[in-house]
Amino acid sequence: MERQVCLSDGRKVPCIGQGTWFLGEHRDRFIREQEALTAGIDAGMTLLDTAEMYGNEEMVGAAIRGLRDRVFLVTKVLPGNASRTGTKEACERSLNRLKTDYVDLFLLHWGGPHPIEDTVASMVELQQEGKIKAWGVSNMDVPEMERFYAVPGGASCAANQILYNLAHRGVEYDLLPWCRERHLPVMAYSPADEGRLSRNPVLMGIAQKHEATPVQIALAWIMRRPGMIAIPKAGSVTHVQENYRSLSIELTAEDVNLLDEAFPPPVSKVHLDSW
Ligand code: NAP
Repeated sequence: MERQVCLSDGRKVPCIGQGTWFLGEHRDRFIREQEALTAGIDAGMTLLDTAEMYGNEEMVGAAIRGLRDRVFLVTKVLPGNASRTGTKEACERSLNRLKTDYVDLFLLHWGGPHPIEDTVASMVELQQEGKIKAWGVSNMDVPEMERFYAVPGGASCAANQILYNLAHRGVEYDLLPWCRERHLPVMAYSPADEGRLSRNPVLMGIAQKHEATPVQIALAWIMRRPGMIAIPKAGSVTHVQENYRSLSIELTAEDVNLLDEAFPPPVSKVHLDSW
């Protein structure tokens, strides 16, 4: 079932990972959520996405204890911290909380007040020091990506993490082609539209035909694009395992047409949505 996306440095990551936003917030769900993360790793969803903003790096670090070598760990620096020195300090804090000595991918969470030249220079330095294996960005539209690629070291960006799901298809107009032309992997966040797609009647109909669930269809639809990594967040073992099984769903041309009718693709530029 394993399908992978190749990064520019040759490393391969599974095209379905695990989001973690809001995991670890409630003491009473803590154990169940940690079990969900480890069940996901066992199933093959070894890419874990966290961020200093989520306040759960300690919980993620605890969930991967003893499993670090199998995990592709992604975390993010807040824009306000992404200065020349702040980026490196934020990375050190994340490493401490995650209880690891490197992260696989370190992302600028969204654009902020600091010159991107400074953020990129710090990212490149962290990479040279072995504290991060690769760096990337999040919530960047085409103009911002072009600005990144124009600064020294900017083209070594390894991924762009963006909002992408059936209900938010604007990026298909220009950002996804831009990334594809540069072989830049895209990580689709909120792939289930924060769970809303689980209640969509068109998805329910297609799901019934495949003996699947609406969220599985929404994930399969995202992952059929080359270079795309979906990072659903799930708080239970049942949901995690269900999400992993979406890899085996092959949508038909008829399914895709039905989805296009229900969620029309963009016909002109749409500014990048984000939460
Ligand atoms: P999401 O993954 O689209 O949706 C999460 C919701 O879907 C949860 O309520 C979850 O419920 C539910 N769900 C998951 N699997 C399901 C299944 N098989 N059946 C039914 N419901 C299911 O939304 P998200 O959490 O916003 O996005 C995913 C990840 O992307 C985040 O956790 C975060 O890591 C990342 N993200 C990044 C940014 C950014 O700015 N870079 C922004 C937003 C999100 P349960 O919890 O009950 O399983």
